[in-house]
Amino acid sequence: MTNPFKLLGISDDVVNAVKDLGFENPTPIQEQAIPVLLEGNNDFVGLAQTGTGKTAAFGLPLLELIDFKSNKPQALILCPTRELCLQITSDIKNFSKNISGANVVAVYGGANIMQQLREIRNGVQIVVATPGRMLDIIGRKAIDFTNVKYVVLDEADEMLNMGFQEDINDILSTTPDDKKTWLFSATMPPEVRRIAKNYMDSPTELTMGTKNTGNVNIEHEYYVVRARDKYAALKRIVDFNPEIFAVVFCKTKMDTQDVAEHLIKDGYNADALHGDLSQQQRDKVMQRFRDRHMQLLIATDVAARGIDVNNVTHVINYSLPDEIESYTHRSGRTGRAGKTGISICIINSKEIGKIRQIERIIGKQFTKAELPTGFDVCEKQLFSLVHKVHNVEVNDNQIDQYIPRIMDEFAELSKEDVIKRFASLEFNRFLEYYKNAPDLNASADDRGERGERGERGERGPRRSSDGYTRLFINLGSVDDFTRGDLLSFVCNNGKIAGKNVGKIDLKGVYSFFEVEDASVDALFNNFKDIQFNNRGVRIEKSGDPAESRSGGGGRARSYSGGGDRRSSGGGRREGGRREGGNSGGGFRDFSGRSREDRGGRSSGGNGGDRRRRS
Ligand code: AMP
Repeated sequence: MTNPFKLLGISDDVVNAVKDLGFENPTPIQEQAIPVLLEGNNDFVGLAQTGTGKTAAFGLPLLELIDFKSNKPQALILCPTRELCLQITSDIKNFSKNISGANVVAVYGGANIMQQLREIRNGVQIVVATPGRMLDIIGRKAIDFTNVKYVVLDEADEMLNMGFQEDINDILSTTPDDKKTWLFSATMPPEVRRIAKNYMDSPTELTMGTKNTGNVNIEHEYYVVRARDKYAALKRIVDFNPEIFAVVFCKTKMDTQDVAEHLIKDGYNADALHGDLSQQQRDKVMQRFRDRHMQLLIATDVAARGIDVNNVTHVINYSLPDEIESYTHRSGRTGRAGKTGISICIINSKEIGKIRQIERIIGKQFTKAELPTGFDVCEKQLFSLVHKVHNVEVNDNQIDQYIPRIMDEFAELSKEDVIKRFASLEFNRFLEYYKNAPDLNASADDRGERGERGERGERGPRRSSDGYTRLFINLGSVDDFTRGDLLSFVCNNGKIAGKNVGKIDLKGVYSFFEVEDASVDALFNNFKDIQFNNRGVRIEKSGDPAESRSGGGGRARSYSGGGDRRSSGGGRREGGRREGGNSGGGFRDFSGRSREDRGGRSSGGNGGDRRRRS
């Protein structure tokens, strides 16, 4: 049987490459766009959601149209973010792996420009770029676009949202008039229409699905809670979905950081992705999410643009986006490549109108969902555990030697008793955590801030520092620490629980963190002779030295590391393995045991402890 990509007009080398990637059949957008684009003589507008196979839809035809005997840039692909730029470059490299002489370069900010210039000098046919860096390189007269025949504007709506309109104009003005422009966009606001009008000549238009319609594989749900119960609601949703692998969207960087920190402290595998992180930190966070070493990625809209991670089960809108159009981009992070996904909004009753607006834009109805009760969560977790136990891979070689002793221990128990005990080990913790769990669903007339407070364990992120002492530590972002890393470093070395740590203020060469007053002495007692990268680590009770130039702020106590090197549970990357924080090799579970107990990596922080908080 002839390969369906071949039937569309793709050559053997490329067909074999996509076969190696597991592409058996073209996606609908590929099926429709490839034959049109292969003609090579049309401008093109494709209205398509992310995750529909857009990259191959334009990438495969480009590979057929480019002359790889020449080493001059012939195609320029512009996209809004570094992440997307790297993704497209990697996809096209994969598609072209069997074409000799094919060269693709990724041009994006925040990376060494010299390396990019070198690659360009060595000769490339396809340039994948973010607008800012591309302009920089054009400004240096380091690239010649006179042979460009195709320009692809990917996620055009996002590029405009991010203010790249002028940069795009400037870049396009350096390309030949007779080039063909292919524009892809998830939505078609008037500004994108204007680009199509200004830069294109009677483009062929293809719409995948209905205009502005969300992906059909995504279900949309909303939960109405009081504003102050949002965090508790988030946790409940996560607890009710033991296998969740989600992107949680917040409106501001601060919220993102705040929610991530609280989740980490509460024992979840989470981290934040926002614009205040260095590129290196963002890459690190994304890599861990891609590798599924992290369960919950808490992100701002801007930081999450272009994220292409398959198998995301849920998108959670912790706050609704200001721009209703952004909802389509957010929800498009799930339900990718034919998979199903759920997009959840946690809202207060004043925001129902906004849900109706989104419904009109995506052309789909939301389901109003009820937050599960504490009992529902316990039951769900119990059966998830039962399922895991049933399916666990048993290492007979290792375990056999212990079986006689184990059987001895259980000699007087029936099979049912043993099972009950194993199950209770987990179930009891959940029951305890959720025993007084309030109903978090807000009634229609709840207006956000009224109502009784529920149990402490489910309260929202704490902002107040009452009862906390602010401490200085001579480690910071230059040591490649995230807040999560610092939290686990402090907890592991100071032998205190994550729940006893308050706000963490990560600076460059130093940082501040708050510790509950009652835990300060224990922290100081344990935190002696600690080293990091052969450097003594120092903590001090203090005001901010940078802020208190007068010398005030009472550095009452100071312990400097520097004696014997003590093996520290929180040491990072020793032996080449990252430890601590939320970087565990797998999802959080509810055992309350450390990852070492489970033969995995240290979960650091307060993994598992959170259920005992009530
Ligand atoms: P994109 O919309 O290009 O970001 O693609 C979304 C995801 O779908 C990526 O992980 C692609 O590798 C995957 N994909 C694209 N085309 C196909 C195909 N024809 N068959 C299977 N997976 C595909």
